[in-house]
Amino acid sequence: MRITGDLINNWIKIRLKLKKIMKAKFTGKCVECEDVIKAGKEILKNSKDQWVHKACCDLEEELP
Ligand SMILES: [Zn+2]
Repeated sequence: MRITGDLINNWIKIRLKLKKIMKAKFTGKCVECEDVIKAGKEILKNSKDQWVHKACCDLEEELP
């Protein structure tokens, strides 16, 4: 099978869809950096299904 640019673009689109960014409704704690997540901050789930800061999500690092 030939890997085309289109295929890679589709794969990235799927990855972005999986990354569901939300705004924190309550103040909480990030399991990655152990810092506070303030209400209104952008958060998303990591590979362990725990809410973390947008910048702390480990899923992002899986991209080539
Ligand atoms: Zn964090």
